[in-house]
Amino acid sequence: MNPPEVDRAAASRAAVAARRARAAVKNAVNERRLSAVSVLDTALTSTESIEATLRVRDLLLSIPGLGPIRVDRIMTRLEIASSKRLSGLGVHQQERLREFLVKRAPVVENTGLSRLVVLAGPTAVGKGTVSTYIRENYPEVLLSVSATTRAPRPGEIDGVSYYFVSDEEFDRMIEAGEFLEWAVVHNKSRYGTPRTPIDAALAAGKSVLLEIDIQGARQVKQAMPAATLVFLLPPTWEELVRRLIGRGTETLEEQERRLTTARVELAAQDEFDYRVVNRDVRAAAAEVVELMQIQKATDLHGKE
Ligand code: 5GP
Repeated sequence: MNPPEVDRAAASRAAVAARRARAAVKNAVNERRLSAVSVLDTALTSTESIEATLRVRDLLLSIPGLGPIRVDRIMTRLEIASSKRLSGLGVHQQERLREFLVKRAPVVENTGLSRLVVLAGPTAVGKGTVSTYIRENYPEVLLSVSATTRAPRPGEIDGVSYYFVSDEEFDRMIEAGEFLEWAVVHNKSRYGTPRTPIDAALAAGKSVLLEIDIQGARQVKQAMPAATLVFLLPPTWEELVRRLIGRGTETLEEQERRLTTARVELAAQDEFDYRVVNRDVRAAAAEVVELMQIQKATDLHGKE
């Protein structure tokens, strides 16, 4: 039986998005912005990644200087079938391919290394303000736009603040594997990070910032261990309460629910790589961005 029209349309949209993200990865390898070894490593650590769906042959072909004849010869020598995807490699094939890539294509010439930074922290700590400030003042950083099932607040713009979607659409996105992570926040609405724009930006050598809740941050760390987790702290608990009440956009019941979540969230700060205190938006934003750069420098030394 044929799938219904809507499912087919959604599946073909997902397929087009995946193809584009794979093309972005191959381009990045071809332009030496991303090493083929790191593509293999991402594919092996995260079976859900775009990299995992890449064919070995296509990865090899994207390495500068390797044409189809040599690639076919290399694949025969590595004993890897030409249709194999990175996720489908056996342990010995993984080892042989890795060894080949380390020797053949270790270099990333452009130092604009990809970075995925997750900014989390308790509710009302000012994550949104800090990330908006970063979006407006650091155009080289891509701020991921989440999908949510909650209704827009006054002034929020669809496609900029969030993609505001129905429950049915959110279900569809989960089923199509479109999320890097998703979670129910404040026991209420669902929020999720669309995967494709992130894969494409990372492959293009951009830094990416996710402003998400703590459950989401944990999921990202699992899917992409190289992600840097930053925890934004209020100067004091009293200040956090003041900010929460001060916003005045939620009902009393909603405020109570958010305070409860915030207490639990504050307890999670030790799981994070860095902590930044949000005394002043500009300073906190600068600190987060600086962390991205410090990371780049450290990574660079690690790779030398
Ligand atoms: P708000 O409804 O106030 O915009 O956001 C509520 C919470 O949802 C915030 O803590 C925010 O960080 C979190 N959030 C926003 N987008 C995402 C997402 O894509 N994934 C997860 N896990 N949390 C998100």
